[in-house]
Amino acid sequence: MKNKPHKPPATAVGQVSLVGAGPGDPDLLTLKAVKAIAAATVILVDDLVNEAVLAHASPSARIVYVGKRGGCASTPQAFIEKLMVSEAHKGENVVRLKGGDPLVFGRSGEEIEALQQAGIEVHVVNGITAALGALASLNTALTHRDHAHGVLMVTGHAKPGDPGTDWRALAHTARQAKLTLVVYMGVAAAQRIQDELLHGLAADTPVAIVQDATLPSQRRALCTLDCLHQTLTEQRMASPCVLVIGDVLRGLASLGQAQEAVLARGQIRAM
Ligand code: SAH
Repeated sequence: MKNKPHKPPATAVGQVSLVGAGPGDPDLLTLKAVKAIAAATVILVDDLVNEAVLAHASPSARIVYVGKRGGCASTPQAFIEKLMVSEAHKGENVVRLKGGDPLVFGRSGEEIEALQQAGIEVHVVNGITAALGALASLNTALTHRDHAHGVLMVTGHAKPGDPGTDWRALAHTARQAKLTLVVYMGVAAAQRIQDELLHGLAADTPVAIVQDATLPSQRRALCTLDCLHQTLTEQRMASPCVLVIGDVLRGLASLGQAQEAVLARGQIRAM
């Protein structure tokens, strides 16, 4: 007879860990994330988390999918927060698994607040954010002493009713301060982002688009800012993508190897 899987004991007082699952490749999980997943009694799995990371979970852990993939509506944020609070109060060791790093566009700020208000112990376990996975696939740094003194991570998707990012102001700042722009959730608004950024950035500013970074399905395209929307459409690229914009990518043109890798996939537009 097969032994019943051993259920890790629920801790006397529950806790919640917000754990980064990285951009996709399960080998990019941190050791700390692996330990947190293995110790969890309840795991709430967000959208964009590669299910392969659940191989580290205890067979008896309760897995709850709260993402919106597969055409289902995503679980309302308030419900997720309530669930985390009630499970932790029952003494469960809850892991909230999020794509990339939990602290980057992951609504962790709201969740940490809600949990702390309910008197629950919260831990954050970092993951590799999508932009870094994407840049690694291009063998390009986000900063460069000659081209970029820093980085701005921005979202292309604002909360309903919020006017969102001021792209024109951002373009001027990026040019004047020599910053690389990294846009998350930018596919739907790409045309507007392109048009607005062109008020402050040169039309030939290089752009890299990386879809499904670090996964076997990864796709990359290089273009100039004036062709951003066209490239997304022609290459049929879709979410999840990160858009990397800035002169730091100019190095890519001189890196024969990296450019060839992109060319071989037939997804480059001339830089
Ligand atoms: N916390 C996540 C970001 C969540 S917002 C992180 O740190 O990466 C979701 C957005 O992240 C997507 O719309 C996309 O812009 C980006 N993203 C997540 N995974 C990605 C991947 N594998 N490839 C490209 N972009 C990705």
